[in-house]
Amino acid sequence: MFSIASFTFSPIAENTYLLHNETGDCIIIDPGCYFGNERETLQDYIEKHALRPKYLLNTHCHLDHVFGNKFVHDTWQLELYIHPKEQPVLAFAAEAGVQWGMPFSNYEGPLHFLREGEQIRLGNDVLNVLFAPGHSPGHICFYCAAQNFVIDGDVLFRQSIGRTDLPGGNHETLLNSIRNVLFTLPDDTVLYPGHGATTTVGFEKKHNPFLRMP
Ligand SMILES: [Zn+2]
Ligand SMILES: [Zn+2]
Repeated sequence: MFSIASFTFSPIAENTYLLHNETGDCIIIDPGCYFGNERETLQDYIEKHALRPKYLLNTHCHLDHVFGNKFVHDTWQLELYIHPKEQPVLAFAAEAGVQWGMPFSNYEGPLHFLREGEQIRLGNDVLNVLFAPGHSPGHICFYCAAQNFVIDGDVLFRQSIGRTDLPGGNHETLLNSIRNVLFTLPDDTVLYPGHGATTTVGFEKKHNPFLRMP
């Protein structure tokens, strides 16, 4: 069974998730650690729980979700998994860092691609890849059906949705992803978003001002 640890990192307050189970292996999703003390916080957690990092995943490659990719690669030799359509977003991230006043060293190691329907496994636990573009062209979410949760990146937030004014964003595409991908999951599915508090599919169907039916 997955245990989920979350950390909020960087001036952008991005949520980094670390999933681990009884195997002692772990999955690092969207390491947004920007400052040295944030990298230490992540490393301390992993060492304190004697975890072996096995996968490095990005829901998408906006700068706040990729700040710590290189650190994870350098420290635990993990290679990055993304959707193929995020490649140009990743390539632009370092330049975006300069533009936003948050320069950083981008990941330049090998890339592995994840597509809709593929799975990431840790022992008996499984994450299913859901393709949910709109906030970003190759945005994916990681769904655990057995435990009823989804790591949903910047698609849907508690009473808000991802912005669509960044390169490759599209508002209609985002709304379609929410309605046709996330809203088809059971109402009690817990959403762990890239920013802010957790929520559920059912709560957002009722209370999200961007999605309430007219
Ligand atoms: Zn984003
Ligand atoms: Zn974000």
